[in-house]
Amino acid sequence: MYVIPFSMGPVGSPLSKIGVEITDSPYVVYSMRVMTRIGAKVLEILRQDEQFVRCLHAVGSGGTPGWPCDPKNTIILHKPAENEIVSYGSGYGGNSLLGKKCFALRLGSVIARREGWLAEHMLIVGITNPQGKKRYIAAAFPSACGKTNLAMMTPTLPGYKVECVGDDIAWMKFDKDGVLRAINPENGFFGVAPGTSAATNPIAMATVFKNTVFTNVAETPEGGVWWEGMGPAPERLVDWKGQPWDPSKKTPAAHPNSRFCTPAEQCPMIDGEWENSEGVPISAILLGGRRPAGVPLVVESRDWQHGVFMGASMRSEATAAAEHSGKMVMHDPFAMRPFFGYNFGDYLKHWLSMPQPGRNMPKIFHVNWFRKDEQGKFLWPGFGENSRVLDWILRRCDGEPCHAETPLGYIPRAGALNTENLSAVDMNELFSIPKDFWLQESDAIEKYFKEEVGEDLPNEMWDELNKLRKNIQA
Ligand code: GDP
Ligand code: MN
Repeated sequence: MYVIPFSMGPVGSPLSKIGVEITDSPYVVYSMRVMTRIGAKVLEILRQDEQFVRCLHAVGSGGTPGWPCDPKNTIILHKPAENEIVSYGSGYGGNSLLGKKCFALRLGSVIARREGWLAEHMLIVGITNPQGKKRYIAAAFPSACGKTNLAMMTPTLPGYKVECVGDDIAWMKFDKDGVLRAINPENGFFGVAPGTSAATNPIAMATVFKNTVFTNVAETPEGGVWWEGMGPAPERLVDWKGQPWDPSKKTPAAHPNSRFCTPAEQCPMIDGEWENSEGVPISAILLGGRRPAGVPLVVESRDWQHGVFMGASMRSEATAAAEHSGKMVMHDPFAMRPFFGYNFGDYLKHWLSMPQPGRNMPKIFHVNWFRKDEQGKFLWPGFGENSRVLDWILRRCDGEPCHAETPLGYIPRAGALNTENLSAVDMNELFSIPKDFWLQESDAIEKYFKEEVGEDLPNEMWDELNKLRKNIQA
């Protein structure tokens, strides 16, 4: 049995919270040591403040030899009233590293509501523009929709610099000056390995060279690691199940959901303020998902309430890696569907209660890097080119009138998005707002609100849906 005292957030920060995980898995200990701050310094804090989240974890018996777990009987309990998490049967990921999704999001969202702040499934990055002005943004995208990539982006726009505070979770609270301040409660990155390469995410590749726990990747004869999408496969490999890999069998060498677990401080572009115990000031909140059709590259909400509606009506195409196979567009409000710790209607009311006198509200935007043309090709090059969208967003935060009104909200005025040196992008298609599509989308949102949220849905959301319908029909 191992006892792990851990801090979510910098040790001693007023925004941080303490947990203690009891586990029978040494793998969990290694991983928690990377993903959270653990050890005696946390116990010191506990001596001053006896509140902590109790986390109990056992792998169970029933798994394959060498990897104890009990997938048939896995059970995860969250007890918000007792500040307690109990997890049985899982030997991997968020169901065994209990600081992450269980604590930082599910219990975290409950604690946040109680104490008047926000615990969200969001990355945090600092962006410095060519004039040297630095701002921070937070962004909520569902799993496998580009959080880690945006958090470690190499901007293509000259003069821009992006620095990483966090790639998955944000705890945010308004300070006494009315500024929304965010911390990353985590201490490391638990990233999907396949597809990560020197071409797609050189920063992640540079981060995982040492002190990294790899899970379910393939192994080279030299003891190195390999996964699909890293580059050409070495001649000999042991696959993720421990068998010699035979490429002719077409089974992947690394599991599609294999991971690297690596200390954030090793990231070459980690932000200088990433452990600031006050948090970093947030200028804008981005929402987004995979929308192959109908949804423009970027839309700015008209105001906070409209932004909350954008979050409530978020949808995203499920990828093969997610729990739903096939390519269905699923509702995933605020990218929190799997992580709400309490009633979603009450969550929306909590968001709606944020604007208060003296508070500086961040602007809210919806982005979509994943719109496709009729041939199924992405219309937008994405990745580092997303810096062009960030540039427009920050100019909007400065109050530049570089926007145009549409039924959905504000989009870049013609010519306002910097497309210099960008080869052939069909901007008309990328920003088109097909009427039929949006009438159907409104129906889908209505059905979702009625069937999944019901009477708990705040009236403001119905007002916004009515506005949307009216705008589209006008
Ligand atoms: P996370 O799970 O939200 O952290 O998502 P990741 O950053 O790990 O990315 C998930 C997948 O989306 C990876 O296959 C990325 O290559 C892909 N991806 C990320 N950003 C973009 C983008 O801007 N455009 C396109 N087309 N794909 C992207
Ligand atoms: Mn990620």
